[in-house]
Amino acid sequence: MKRKTKIVATLGPASDSPEVLSRLLSAGVNVVRINFSHGSADDHRGRVARVRATASELGLPVAVLADLQGPKIRIESFVDDAVELEAGQRFTLDTQLAADAGTREQVAIHYPPLLDDVKPGGQLLINDGAISLAVDEVDDHRIVCTVEVGGKLSGRKGVNLRGGGLSAGGLTEKDFGDIRVAAELEADYLAVSFVRSASDMHEARRLLTEAGGKARLCAKIERAEAITALDEIIEASDAVMVARGDLGVEIGDPELPGVQKRIIAQAREMNRLVITATQMMESMIENPIPTRAEVLDVANATLDGTDAVMLSAETAVGRYPVQTVAAMGNICIGAEREATADRPISGLAAHFERTDEAIAMATMYTARHMHADAIIALTESGTTALLMSRQDTHIPIYALTQYPASERYLALCRNVFPVAFSPSELNGVVPVEEAVACLKTRGDLEKGDRALLTKGDFTGPGGTNAMKIITVD
Ligand code: ATP
Ligand code: MG
Ligand code: MG
Repeated sequence: MKRKTKIVATLGPASDSPEVLSRLLSAGVNVVRINFSHGSADDHRGRVARVRATASELGLPVAVLADLQGPKIRIESFVDDAVELEAGQRFTLDTQLAADAGTREQVAIHYPPLLDDVKPGGQLLINDGAISLAVDEVDDHRIVCTVEVGGKLSGRKGVNLRGGGLSAGGLTEKDFGDIRVAAELEADYLAVSFVRSASDMHEARRLLTEAGGKARLCAKIERAEAITALDEIIEASDAVMVARGDLGVEIGDPELPGVQKRIIAQAREMNRLVITATQMMESMIENPIPTRAEVLDVANATLDGTDAVMLSAETAVGRYPVQTVAAMGNICIGAEREATADRPISGLAAHFERTDEAIAMATMYTARHMHADAIIALTESGTTALLMSRQDTHIPIYALTQYPASERYLALCRNVFPVAFSPSELNGVVPVEEAVACLKTRGDLEKGDRALLTKGDFTGPGGTNAMKIITVD
């Protein structure tokens, strides 16, 4: 069985060697994430170049997602790689300490406004809530804390205030520069962090367009305000990410499962893509196998209908990057086998404004009721394939396109399998015959299979206006 749910993997030191990168992509990574919170523009340039080269060598459509840091507050670094904090000990955050001078007793945090935001009695959370500090005292450059929940702490980890309200909003100066780098790198997706409202997405889109970028925009849902403004944010985005680390700290863990389900359902309903992220296979940073809780978490996101599940530190700095991807892929396939992974056809009462939407829905309805073996979309922009994939079935959707950028865009899309395809002519029956031949050669179709194919009589976006029913001979 083909895996429907896609895998996003964050790149970092653990995945930089050409050998590991090649094994990661072969193990099933569909989208690589470049996190602009870590590393220099040149690091990102090198990573993207290696990804593009390796993907083309392997003949795999792999998208690049550039993730902006946004207004995230972070600690600086330690003299050693990491320190071990123990519950009950003192630990001080100091706005005047040198960036690399952190020890087990103190670490720099170069964000003076924090001194005003934090009060004795408050609670600071570091590294997506893994470490928790009780604030005892605040002076003109230090926040003195007692460790409540300790553990291993390395540099550049994010800091939140329990209950939220810490980080300022909007794009930062650094983000402005990084958007230009993302445009230069021809990133396929640009993720915007700590989005508060649709206007943050509009601003990012304006800046990206000015910089000449064509990336699709992904809103990271990680603030309480974003939940309130969910519909308008989804409307203003091409994709959303359930960024569970910061979101969990802001809204509290008990709210997370319900909110995850709501975001996924709403994104699908509005014909947008959705990624589920953070701590999905966290224990595999150190261990070669996942915990049962992680297995069930990945499976649950798959059953919720997420387009993709994401790996962060697991592939960026973990000990078992390739094993993690392989294990995650197998969990997805296992979950997809379960019948509840097929949702009933939705939107039956909808009014279709557009021809391509009408064809997409007609195709999905027919495919279900004819028990088709495959769906083939001859597509330029990828929109028809996206629209069809919002109806979740077990029938694979092959998106055949001449445009590598459309292949990469669809790499994130659940149950869509992008295929490079250049027909000898654009109109008439030739492309249909060549499309079937192309998929037969790949082993995706065989004699006797019933396939539904969508195409347009003219070229241009939104041109899909026909569905054809084919029995493969
Ligand atoms: P975000 O809030 O954007 O997710 P993050 O700090 O949580 O930022 P992740 O990409 O989720 O970063 O990765 C988790 C951890 O993996 C980071 O905190 C960092 O320790 C490490 N990491 C990720 N990417 C890199 C990199 N390129 N170089 C070094 N360390 C990295
Ligand atoms: Mg985050
Ligand atoms: Mg993270």
